[in-house]
Amino acid sequence: METTIEATRGTFEGDAEPISGERGASILGPRNPALEAENPSLLLPPETDAGTIPNLKFGYAQARNRVLSGGWGREITTRELPIAKELAGVNMRLKPGGIREMHWHKEAEWAYMIAGRARVTVVDAEGGNVVEDVGVGDLWLFPAGLPHSIQGLEEGCEFLLVFDSGDFSENETFLITDWFAHTPRDVLAQNFGLPEEAFANLPTDLDNERYIFAGDVPPTRDDDVVAGPVGGSRQRFTHRMHAQEPIEAPGGRVRVTDSRNFPAATTIASALVEVEPGGMRELHWHPNADEWQYYLGGKGRMTVFASSGKARTFDFQAGDVGYVPFAMGHYVQNTGTETLTFLELFKSDHYADISLQQWMALTPPELVAAHLNLDPATVAALRADKQLIVGAP
Ligand code: MN
Ligand code: MN
Repeated sequence: METTIEATRGTFEGDAEPISGERGASILGPRNPALEAENPSLLLPPETDAGTIPNLKFGYAQARNRVLSGGWGREITTRELPIAKELAGVNMRLKPGGIREMHWHKEAEWAYMIAGRARVTVVDAEGGNVVEDVGVGDLWLFPAGLPHSIQGLEEGCEFLLVFDSGDFSENETFLITDWFAHTPRDVLAQNFGLPEEAFANLPTDLDNERYIFAGDVPPTRDDDVVAGPVGGSRQRFTHRMHAQEPIEAPGGRVRVTDSRNFPAATTIASALVEVEPGGMRELHWHPNADEWQYYLGGKGRMTVFASSGKARTFDFQAGDVGYVPFAMGHYVQNTGTETLTFLELFKSDHYADISLQQWMALTPPELVAAHLNLDPATVAALRADKQLIVGAP
């Protein structure tokens, strides 16, 4: 007996056929059941999907991993997901003591700790320095150009990095070992006021870029102090996102972090969204920027409305990246049995969205009714409070 995707939608079975009533037919040729099961809305799209829309999904499971002595890192940039021009992301793992080499780059770096703990360091242009420990649910923001490092603590860690340019590459950052390797020894000696012999043991082969290398777990935070000429930085570069009081919604909750509660986040705004089973991030769009998503847990389905009669649906699971180009309407359904958790990121100093329902509720009812042939009772039932996440029907 043939199983249709419509019948199994949300259960991710691997042998479903693209058949819906009289439409469609079974697959006779080669197939990849595992990948098809992860993308049932591509194999058999809802009938409301139409038109050509660029790919809006890429999973870290398909991203090339750079594996080194201290851990690994894999990136999703415009090279993997060409539509994602405003933001790029890196998923990185550091073993206990593993070090993401001292470096800097042209883009601002936003980060969310997924598991474990790390010690981060940063030095600002005034000589203010920060050495701080971050744990699960914490963020950091390193402004463009400021030098920094990340090191796994006793339990190691894994985190998501997001950069405010889709063209960013984690493999093209300014590394301290790289600069030393490309500076003559006599220049180093003069610069630091030290004999050339002090630099006799610099790493030399170029595969040696340390990038992510094994290290010893650092001393406790209180014993890892560097006194500077101006004391600590006047800026705060870390933030406890998960400790924020969430906005409770009918079908879940949302935490928003942007420059209003984390002043360093001048170019990257974020929301941590939890949608309970059966719930849905409501129909909405963003009036200020593209949306870059990272799915942390659960299973979801998003349909993006691109105007001109175009709409396309994508399925997501933990570890996937989704993208919504500027101003396109969208909603995200929880299609699983667990809480769907994802991050929304925007290249902006503030989070903003427009709710379809709130817009309609705040427009004269006869005007709304005239567009959609709605009866007065239906228009009167529209909710003027932004729902954010609606509950199960
Ligand atoms: Mn960095
Ligand atoms: Mn959105």
